[in-house]
Amino acid sequence: MKAGFVALIGVPNVGKSTLLNALLKFQLSIVSPSPQTTRHKLLGILNGKDYQICFQDTPGWLDRAADKLQDVLIKATRSAVKQDADLLIVLVEPSTPTPETLAQIGKLAAAGKPLILAVNKCDLVRDKERREKTAAAYRKVLPPSDTHFISALKKIGIKELLDAIVARLPESPAYYGDDWLSDRWERFFVTELIRQTVFGQYRDEIPHACAVAIENYKEKQGRPDEIEAILYVEKSTQKGVVLGKKGLAIKKLRERSQTAIENFLGRKVRLEIWVKVRRNWRRDKRALKELGYTV
Ligand code: GDP
Ligand code: MG
Repeated sequence: MKAGFVALIGVPNVGKSTLLNALLKFQLSIVSPSPQTTRHKLLGILNGKDYQICFQDTPGWLDRAADKLQDVLIKATRSAVKQDADLLIVLVEPSTPTPETLAQIGKLAAAGKPLILAVNKCDLVRDKERREKTAAAYRKVLPPSDTHFISALKKIGIKELLDAIVARLPESPAYYGDDWLSDRWERFFVTELIRQTVFGQYRDEIPHACAVAIENYKEKQGRPDEIEAILYVEKSTQKGVVLGKKGLAIKKLRERSQTAIENFLGRKVRLEIWVKVRRNWRRDKRALKELGYTV
């Protein structure tokens, strides 16, 4: 039996969450075109016949903290790299890296962990020579490592990458029961699904100014679960945008979120969303804690 923790590392938007979902063959992690969608260290578990892989999705490797929230993100990523992970998957874009990106990625080498380089979004670059050049640039700052050319979105090279991961796993008994998909509660996924819907529906500052908390979650025998969620924004002007003209925007958000949650849980739910202003929650340590971030 082999088992271990595998961290997906890479700059925001490179496709870490998409890859996690492709590996798990299941939409578990929140995916969106905006960077920094992933705020939590998320664990997805893949159980094979003789292996268990515990994947950690990370918020990305950020260097400087612009606010308290980013500070939390950086800490989560660092602890995944330095402590928890047995293996790092370094995911990169299929384009020539900037010196800054190389410097960030190079820091991973210092962690001294086994590592696999995966060049993602290869569906966008058909030219093999260009891909090789990209990989070579990264390999200069990394310890010797396997290189995989993949597309998380089109599911190209995923099986080969998975085989390589299993080959590198340490011998160990499983960490979790084989019916576990994740160690997070359903309500965590509910908040993430609502946030993902917010990302899809609103533009500009709204998505990053939002946090979701579950106020009430009642499972009902033979009836839909009742879920009350609070959507926090930072300013009253943002609240106005979230609600929309005659409340049409929030109505849409509620419907879409409810459908996403029902698809995820495989059962009916009744969702309510309340919008509240909580000034500057991103800079407020107590607020971050209450909203489930590890501060
Ligand atoms: P993360 O921030 O690293 O977790 O990135 P996400 O998984 O949220 O993906 C960011 C964006 O890149 C999304 O719009 C994805 O659909 C897109 N994306 C991810 N993987 C691929 C890929 O293999 N090919 C292409 N063309 N787009 C991808
Ligand atoms: Mg992500």
